[in-house]
Amino acid sequence: MTRSLVIAIDGPAGTGKSTVARGLATALGARYLDTGAMYRIVTLSMLRRGVDLGDTSAIAASAEQVELAVGHDPAEDRSYLAGEDVSAEIRGDAVTKAVSAVSAVPAVRTRLVALQRALTDGPGRVVVEGRDIGTVVLPDADVKIFLTASAEERARRRNEQNVAAGLPDDYAGVLADVERRDHLDSTRAVSPLRAADDAVVVDTSDMTQAEVIAALTELVEEKAGAAR
Ligand code: C5P
Repeated sequence: MTRSLVIAIDGPAGTGKSTVARGLATALGARYLDTGAMYRIVTLSMLRRGVDLGDTSAIAASAEQVELAVGHDPAEDRSYLAGEDVSAEIRGDAVTKAVSAVSAVPAVRTRLVALQRALTDGPGRVVVEGRDIGTVVLPDADVKIFLTASAEERARRRNEQNVAAGLPDDYAGVLADVERRDHLDSTRAVSPLRAADDAVVVDTSDMTQAEVIAALTELVEEKAGAAR
């Protein structure tokens, strides 16, 4: 059996984190956990139930009841709410706008962090992607990676994706949204977004995703070799 190896990948939105984390998991033959998808499923559930997103205790009470599941195959993006496949809906605008408010609620984080630890326990390799994996969820991860890129570059990439998906070309609007989410995620009281002291920080502004995946695969194989 492959020795267990836990790789934490953190960083803000738009660094190419998801594609890179999936590519790395595939290259390493590892399972993959997208913790952002879990916050998105909880957020979708709140929106559907009409929970007031300004009411922290209503969010906390409602979060207890959310029945969520996520896939572990890096080649497939699968998310479920009470058994329903919501993989596309959680990527929509409504959830993207609301998710920071929901993920700032301590009770939501406590529940999801416990679930994330349970899901990544056990033998084999696993790549875990999020905002607080190296700092809070899995502080003992074998390899910690923190991806960064300038806000402008991240907005440019996201806007390009939107246009390719048929959405309007709106660089200024996307940049404002990137900056708003960065601010909310890095200034919240519980688990603010920051690199762990022992994380390898990789600035992806001038790298292609293939270059980032190749560099990280090498880094992880080196660390795994050194630990053997
Ligand atoms: O990675 P993604 O953009 O899908 O994450 C959506 C949101 O979920 C983030 O903006 C952040 O508010 C929250 N999140 C978090 N902690 C994580 C992963 C995501 O707070 N570990």
